[in-house]
Formats: sequence, C-alpha cells, structure tokens
Amino acid sequence: MKHLRYFLAIILLLGIFIPAETAKAANGDTYEVSSMLLHVRDEPASGATIVGLLHKGDKLTVFHEKYGWVQTYYAGKTAWVAKHHLIPVSTGNVSTQASTSTSNNTGDSGNLTVNASSVNIRSGPGLDYPIIAGTSSGETYTVAERSGDWTKIKLSNGNTGWIASWLTSANAVSTEETSHNVQTVSNNKTASASKQVTNHSLSGFNIVLDAGHGGRDPGAIGLGGVQEKDLVTSTAKQVASTLRAYGANVIETRSGDYFLSLDERIHISNSYDTHAFISVHYNAFPVVSAQGINTFYASNTSRALASNVQNSLAASVPLSNRGTMQANYKVLRNTNAPAILMELGFITNAYDLSVIRTAEYQQQVGEAVANGLMNYFHN
Ligand SMILES: [Zn+2]
Repeated sequence: MKHLRYFLAIILLLGIFIPAETAKAANGDTYEVSSMLLHVRDEPASGATIVGLLHKGDKLTVFHEKYGWVQTYYAGKTAWVAKHHLIPVSTGNVSTQASTSTSNNTGDSGNLTVNASSVNIRSGPGLDYPIIAGTSSGETYTVAERSGDWTKIKLSNGNTGWIASWLTSANAVSTEETSHNVQTVSNNKTASASKQVTNHSLSGFNIVLDAGHGGRDPGAIGLGGVQEKDLVTSTAKQVASTLRAYGANVIETRSGDYFLSLDERIHISNSYDTHAFISVHYNAFPVVSAQGINTFYASNTSRALASNVQNSLAASVPLSNRGTMQANYKVLRNTNAPAILMELGFITNAYDLSVIRTAEYQQQVGEAVANGLMNYFHN
C-alpha cells in the first residue's frame, strides 16, 4: 500500500495550497449562538467527535446545511454545529470564515471536567508547547480562557495551564441534544461528567492489533535505511501490552518478523468477535519535510473509532496532527470490525524519526490508543 499512501500524501500536501472551495460555493450566512454552550463537532451528528465549543453570542459563518446541522470552520477545519441553537444575524455573501471561535478568550467562567484517562497540561494552547503537568479523567478545573481547541485552566498550585478541549467536557454536555435552557445546562454538572467518564477499562473488548509488513516485506525505508517493519513491530508490542494492562483481550496478527498477507490479517480479524481492528504503520514520503501522524478509516462505521484514536494521539505525542482520512485500503475494507490504520509518523523526516525511535514515544502511543479506545467504547 505504499503507492496509495504516496498518492494520498500528495493529495494531502496539495490540499494545503488549495483554498477551501466550499466557502465560495456556499451562502455565507452569519448566525449567532443562542445557547450558553454549543458543541462544535467534526460531523453533522450528535454522536460525532466534539472538536470545540462555542458560547452564547459567538458569531459564525455558515457554508452548508445538512440534516439540521450547519457547516462552518473551526480552528481552520470544517466543523458542524446544530442549527437550532443559532439565530440568523445577516444574510448574503459573507466571504469571511467563522473566526470567532478561535479567539473568544477573556475571563470566561465555568468549569470543565477531564474525560480522558491521561491528559497532558501544557504551557500554551497547542501540542508544540511543553508539558507542565498531567491530569486524568474526572478531574475538574476552573476555566480561565479559551483559544480555539484549547482551554486555559487554573491549577491547584495557583498556576495556569492549557488543556485540549476535546478531551474535556464543559460540565454542560448535550446542550444541542437536549436543551435550550441555560439554567438546566449550567446546573447539570454531575450528569455531564458522568456521561463521558464512565468506565476506564478495556475489559471485555477484543482488539486485533496488526503490525504492518514483516518478513520479506520491509514496508517503507526511512532515513539511514531504517525499515518500517522493525519500528512497527516494537510499537505494536508496546501497544499490545498497554491495551492488555487496561484489560483488553489483544490478538496480534503477527508477533515476529515474518511475512503475512493482507488476506491472512483480515482472516484473523474476522475469525474473532473483534470490537476494533488497528493496523500500525509508519509513513514515508519523498519530500523530507512531510511529517506528523494520521489515522485512516475506510467506511463511516469506522470514522468514530478513527477520530477518537487520532484525537487521543494528537493530544499525547509531540508529532504534528494530520487528522483522520478516508482511504480504501483492503485491510480496512474487508475486516468486519470497525477498522483503522494509524500512520504514526514519517520515518523520512529527521524530527519524526528521532521521536519515533524512542521507547517513550512508543509508550505514549500505547497510552493514547488505550485512551482513544476507551473514549470510543464508553462515550
Ligand atoms: Zn506501512
């Protein structure tokens, strides 16, 4: 699947330079948020991944409408919000993208609750900032400021730090699903926390972990002749042991350096009552500047699994976030279970490779996959 991957990588790279065509084609109406809090999601569905929050009075420009959801832009990416929490402000061809969401900071009050098992707190609003503390699910913090996908919180030692908003709930879950009522929302702290922080175990789940390539198939070749299959083998072992530590029943498609066809991998997955199939790969690209992690899925039934794992990875590892992508890989297409393929960094990029090679990175990946799966299974 190397060629396909290059092809997709080229599309991804091209995508950087193509302005959002959808923005031109759309009507560009401006709306104002009418509810206290409004979740921004990656898809037009109430179960889709939350990628951010809007607040009462925030304005946004809408480009498409679908099933009662409207598409806007949030932190530079397409995103969706429930239309019935919006009041029209003006109509016409407004060409600016919604940008309120990325800059509505200032003494914002309220609390948030962490809803992922192991979350880093950083010194600034992004994955590039140093980790200054850690936290875990169920912890509640006072919100000091918001910036895009990141929220500034007050720590117990009096300092402040930043946390990825998508790993938290704003103590007001389900604003768009259940209620327009501000009082109900703001008083609903415990209910919201318990909705997302339910069970932090993978007990009872069968996970097929697929170390890509092996044997006569080295996979991609990276800087200094490093072979994808070797890095994949050690990473998959680490992920398997972490998932087992969380109680999962892990089935490895290959556990040593030998060749295994795609059909054999698919057969293994389909022989079990598999709850998730996860294929582990590293990426390569002729342009050495290409870097970062992304997660592929083939069908809509696997999309939520992909976003949960990718979001968890992006919040936990120091490589850049290339997001999730649909791809028609055979191993994803023909497995019955929800299936994803993780590209955990570019072995053709010096920075990525220096990180990938460390045991610490592979441990972070293990924890991130476990957290992503728990969010997926228990949300
Ligand atoms: Zn590969």
